[in-house]
Amino acid sequence: MGCHSIGLGMNSVVKEAIEMFENEEIGLNACKKIIMACKNGVYWCDGYESDVIAGMDDYCGNCLRKFSAEELIEVDRNKYFVVRNYICKSCYDHLVCDYVLNSRLLERKIMEKMA
Ligand SMILES: [Zn+2]
Repeated sequence: MGCHSIGLGMNSVVKEAIEMFENEEIGLNACKKIIMACKNGVYWCDGYESDVIAGMDDYCGNCLRKFSAEELIEVDRNKYFVVRNYICKSCYDHLVCDYVLNSRLLERKIMEKMA
């Protein structure tokens, strides 16, 4: 028997985690890990990841601060450790620059090895 509402149950955990993060009871990485675990948790049953992060439309998926939805930029969440694929401008600058820089460095290392 499937159960779609597992996502909503997980969402209640996510909301608590965000509240703990905002009250500085837990750190950013701990909070993100809990949210990731909750998103994976829906596959124990037949839930939706989108339910898990319901109510987070104004949050940056990286630093978990609140913004207005228009301020957030869409990214590929498979590339970065983000809980949703919208992040704020300053996280975007850091993450995307680091990502490009790291892949260039890697490219150069490979080229050096081949030379
Ligand atoms: Zn951010």
